[in-house]
Amino acid sequence: MIKALKDTRAGGVLPTEEKLKTDFVTLSSHQLRTPLSAIKWFIEILLTQRAGKLNKKQIDYIKEIQRSNERAIALVNDLLQVSRVQEGKLHLDTAEADLAQLVEEAVDAHRSLMTNNNISFHLEIINGPLPIIVVDRVKIRRVISNLLNNAVKYTPRGGSVRVVVKKEPRELVCSFSDTGVGIPVDEQEQLFQRFFRGSNVSKIQPDGTGLGLYIAKSLVEAHKGKIWFESEEGKGTTFYLSLPTTRK
Ligand code: ADP
Repeated sequence: MIKALKDTRAGGVLPTEEKLKTDFVTLSSHQLRTPLSAIKWFIEILLTQRAGKLNKKQIDYIKEIQRSNERAIALVNDLLQVSRVQEGKLHLDTAEADLAQLVEEAVDAHRSLMTNNNISFHLEIINGPLPIIVVDRVKIRRVISNLLNNAVKYTPRGGSVRVVVKKEPRELVCSFSDTGVGIPVDEQEQLFQRFFRGSNVSKIQPDGTGLGLYIAKSLVEAHKGKIWFESEEGKGTTFYLSLPTTRK
């Protein structure tokens, strides 16, 4: 039988077994951070070539190590974020924000990826100017980046991605549409579960963790917002993000 144990630090209640698992993930993720940061630092030193001249092959190999290390750092950060969600420790650092600006920042960060993948991009603001909203900018930018990044990652070369931000009476709705691989209909129910990855994406994008959307949903719900999607396999996907404009 699973007993409930009061977690005084979190102020929440998790079943004992769940709490042990979450504690294990939190502790090991923290432990992994230090060596991963050291690897990152030494890779950077090697690439400056101050420790010795490198030939082209050595630079290519070190850059591969750098990419893998960045993926490991991102995974550890995601695991820590998942633990925070499960322990009810999500803290929002809210301030006034312009959603269009947050979207534009995420778009700018993805421009070169879209160009390299030959993906055409379109951004539209409907019913602007948009009202200022009160959100945790870092967390909402992360959600937007995740949705945009997925749209680009899961769209084959030559496809298109369209982002629309629309003012509705009580909320701002942001949609991310792509002409990509879509989500198989019988898997759609699992989409926001931890570690879920579609059976149709493992070959085209072997590196994903399946944690992004789980974290995104928790972050959006912490803002009293909503996240949902429509998708057809082989045709494309649209994700929607809505955030309230009225303070509750
Ligand atoms: P990751 O991208 O690291 O696998 P996410 O949690 O962001 O993790 O996404 C979970 C899964 O949802 C993806 O692996 C993919 O199968 C599916 N998915 C998300 N966005 C899209 C999209 N725009 N098009 C097709 N599949 C998607």
